Amino acid sequence: MPSKYVIHTKPVPHRFEPITKSGVIAWEEGCLKCAVCVKNQCVYGVYDHRHMDDRQMVDSIDNQCMNCFRCVQNCPRELIHKSINPDFMVMGDSHWTPDTIARLWYQSQTGKIPVSGAGYPGPFSGPGFDSMWTDMSEIVRPTRDGIHGREYISTTVDLGRTPKNLVFTGEGEMNEDIPPLVHIPIPMMMRLPRFGAVNDQTIKGWVMAARHLDTLLVLPQEICSQYPLEVQRHLVPSIGTGFKKMAPNKMTRMVELIWDKDWDKNIEVARYSYPSAIVAMRFPLSQGVEEDIPTALDAGCPVIHLEGRMDGTTLDQPSQYIKDGIRRVHQALVERGIRDEITLVASGGLAMAEHVAKSIICGADAVILDFPILIALECRMCRRCEKGLSCPVEIDQADSKWVARRTINLMGAWHNQLLEVMGAMGIREARRLRGEVGRAMFFEDLEKDLFGTLIKVKEGYELE
Ligand code: SF4
Ligand code: SF4
Repeated sequence: MPSKYVIHTKPVPHRFEPITKSGVIAWEEGCLKCAVCVKNQCVYGVYDHRHMDDRQMVDSIDNQCMNCFRCVQNCPRELIHKSINPDFMVMGDSHWTPDTIARLWYQSQTGKIPVSGAGYPGPFSGPGFDSMWTDMSEIVRPTRDGIHGREYISTTVDLGRTPKNLVFTGEGEMNEDIPPLVHIPIPMMMRLPRFGAVNDQTIKGWVMAARHLDTLLVLPQEICSQYPLEVQRHLVPSIGTGFKKMAPNKMTRMVELIWDKDWDKNIEVARYSYPSAIVAMRFPLSQGVEEDIPTALDAGCPVIHLEGRMDGTTLDQPSQYIKDGIRRVHQALVERGIRDEITLVASGGLAMAEHVAKSIICGADAVILDFPILIALECRMCRRCEKGLSCPVEIDQADSKWVARRTINLMGAWHNQLLEVMGAMGIREARRLRGEVGRAMFFEDLEKDLFGTLIKVKEGYELE
């Protein structure tokens, strides 16, 4: 298998004791002092290696326990109990749930796909991406097996404008200039999260990860300019109003502008400063955004970044999810006949590996991840840093190499899950997955199909 389709991972330990969902409560009162205590029979030696993390007041048995319940069941006085950890349950919010955060920690630590056992115990539908199911008709006998390499699956995507058709001269030569394209081997880019206790070392770690993965990291322009030229090809400077012309930088492959009242002035400055770069325009994902996209395309911005909110909703309608926004924009561009001239990338609230595949099915070409790469560094989404308070896991003290390895592990685990989904769907090209809504089911569509006609009464058959 070509090496670009494999992300090598290796375990990278946590720096702090993680908060786990359940804890062990072992009472001492009433203990019979049995000759062989059930605590000594734990096959994982949890009680033997027990220690206390003094900084966080976390007991190591809480996160080393494998939940086999042997000690709970065998203590004759029933002095050992397992209980839900209240510190776990208050992490994050309704979108960045404790389970989501714990799953991201696991993937960043191990680089592996989380396995939760046989069967799925949760509800069958929910908000946002949870109301969408993918067609896994080939899951039992996949014809493609990207992870184990029987037949590789390409996850490469192209960023930029692809020509509608190719024109050749009579001699068989190409008769037009092919617009520049940027190829990335995974449909995942990264960007600086809106908050986080990050410093230069953290950002350096993410830059190292972007280089290793051969993908792109979107950073404010003033941060990008601090990095040497050879690194710049993996960075996307984000430019807002007030950016001044600078000496041309020909290494940068993509630059991002923010859609605001001065976007047309900024585009001139960006073109001068980054003459070789494809220009991307960042739009808030809101109603009517599809009306402005052709203007940006005509002005020379073939990459459109649709930015949702961090809770996975669109910017102006809390009841609309980015999945709906991406579908709407994709469909509008298809109807205008300009979809293939545009690359759509989506961001905002992408919290699980499945969201990558689902965003692409809805019509995005690629996604940009922000908070997952912060949670990879043990972030608990407590948002203390937003208020200027100290970070409980001291992310700003982390070494850049540790940051890079944790980020690579996360991206490796997500990449493998994308391969799993594509293999189970029988799709061998990430480019082919784009807009494949026929390979997915949407709860709201099914509900409409099944029940939409129930309350409709044919004309002339109304009850008096
Ligand atoms: S529940 Fe099992 S793994 Fe956990 S401490 Fe008891 S015996 Fe050990
Ligand atoms: S753990 Fe809390 S303080 Fe630290 S980066 Fe995350 S949200 Fe900010």
